[in-house]
Amino acid sequence: MNKHIDVKNSRANDAGLAKNTQIELDSNCISMVADAVGTPFYCYSPEVIAQAYEELSTALSPVGASVCYAVKANGNLSILQLLSRLGCGMDIVSGGEMERALEAGVPASRIIFSGVGKSPREIARALTEGVHQINVESPAEFHLVADIAASLGLRAPVALRVNPDVDAQTHAKISTGKKGDKFGVALGDVAGLFEAAAGRAEIEMVGLAVHIGSQILDLSPYRRAYGVLADLVRDLRTQGHAVPRLDLGGGIGIAYGDQGAPSVAELAAIIAETVGGLGCALTVEPGRWLVGRAGALVTTVLYTKEAGERTLAIVDAGMNDLVRPALYGAVHPLGVVRSARGGEGQSYGVVGPVCESSDIFGVYDDLPQLAAGDLVAFLCAGAYSASMASTYNARDLVPEVFVSNGRFRIVRRRQTTRELMALEKDTVWQDVESGPAPENRKGIA
Ligand SMILES: *Cc1c(COP(=O)(O)O)cnc(C)c1O
Repeated sequence: MNKHIDVKNSRANDAGLAKNTQIELDSNCISMVADAVGTPFYCYSPEVIAQAYEELSTALSPVGASVCYAVKANGNLSILQLLSRLGCGMDIVSGGEMERALEAGVPASRIIFSGVGKSPREIARALTEGVHQINVESPAEFHLVADIAASLGLRAPVALRVNPDVDAQTHAKISTGKKGDKFGVALGDVAGLFEAAAGRAEIEMVGLAVHIGSQILDLSPYRRAYGVLADLVRDLRTQGHAVPRLDLGGGIGIAYGDQGAPSVAELAAIIAETVGGLGCALTVEPGRWLVGRAGALVTTVLYTKEAGERTLAIVDAGMNDLVRPALYGAVHPLGVVRSARGGEGQSYGVVGPVCESSDIFGVYDDLPQLAAGDLVAFLCAGAYSASMASTYNARDLVPEVFVSNGRFRIVRRRQTTRELMALEKDTVWQDVESGPAPENRKGIA
């Protein structure tokens, strides 16, 4: 018999929650996959990712906006391949993400290179590959891109990422569009850079970009940011500059619990109202919205114990596997995959094994009685979860698994401590004057 995972949430347990927040995981199936691959592991539904892409691209088709997936949300090659085959482009923020996108078969002509601190080496590689667009974030970067393009005999397609000075009303650590944030070119510098571009043959100024933050639940900051962009486009055109493209950024939030999430139809309406009539080619760059709901981190209960007033369930996944709770105070809904004792109404603080007091996933009410060997899953863990994992406490990166129609495919095998330790073996002293060892040069530009 198929029983869907029973979703428990620390904030609320209303009936609509499971549908709103997460794929309906089949608990029998996940339980068997857990036995086959061992916990902890990330599981993803390729169908849910494909559905999200279709829903978004359909909503945006009236405004003619194309979609570039923000690779940093989850750069697994199989996810990149899946989205690329559906016609999705990619938004990257590092040379490593560029290699991943290229490896997954994404044509460079569908890659946008964003990011506040691109190295000369990364810029050169992006130009040589022929990426669609480089989003430049400072006057200094503008001149560096121009110099590198000139030295390579290439023309760089550049958009300026502007800082629209808009508060995205999201968590301070993922707000990126306020004056004083490290991201983007100040509004006052934009016209001057368009002017400078007119004098540099190696720069093709293709437009403007914004990205105001992540996990945005109230869409009104988008209206303000896109309004700022529209005014800027009109001003630039008055000054005789062409602005053929607008990159509208990502950031659309998803529901992690009982809070409502915005609809992409609403976002499309805001786009139509603000920048729809400008005749620009439009792109959006969501990460979380495309993959966040499609993943879960499945973990085994190792122990339960009393700690003061509270009962703790210690699980085998830790903050190194899923850092969002420790980093942003995020709370992932918890699904119960397998519980030997059953029951309900139990409250547990769910914690990991990492030696840090911040290794706490949250306090969850209305759980069954948990015991060693039970399986639970942190839901909505498709974005900024596996991609932010570390090996802290010498914990190996966990496997990632596609699950679909009673079948599973390991799309990232478990890393072993032996593989990690190999990087630290056979080390040798060398004379500083002989320069860096060849295998370390990559980071040096
Ligand atoms: C992180 C990022 C995105 C994606 O953000 P989401 O919140 O995952 O949609 C898009 N564009 C840029 C420039 C980013 O840095």
